[in-house]
Amino acid sequence: MPYKDPEKKKEYDREYRLKNIEKIKEYEREYRKTPSGKKSNAIRKWRHRGIIFYDYDLLYDIYTHTTHCDECECLLNQCDRSRKCVDHDHSITDDENVRNILCLSCNVERG
Ligand SMILES: [Zn+2]
Repeated sequence: MPYKDPEKKKEYDREYRLKNIEKIKEYEREYRKTPSGKKSNAIRKWRHRGIIFYDYDLLYDIYTHTTHCDECECLLNQCDRSRKCVDHDHSITDDENVRNILCLSCNVERG
């Protein structure tokens, strides 16, 4: 539905979202289960937690292909303690701060 007036378009979009809120939410739930949905969700969470890396696509590749903890070398994602984590230096907030891919135990220990 083309609108010449951007305000009218905005109003139309807003009403469409309100009318179709359940459909949109369902679509978003389904999207998060897809490979690209999982990826964008992971990257969004990392950014929110202050993880800074020069290439998030690359970080996601490294993350998904890492099978063992960089510290203790345990097999990742076997239980809650071995849950895969991106370890980053919390003191660095304006530059790259990713250190390793670790299990939850090693990540907690490192702080
Ligand atoms: Zn570990």
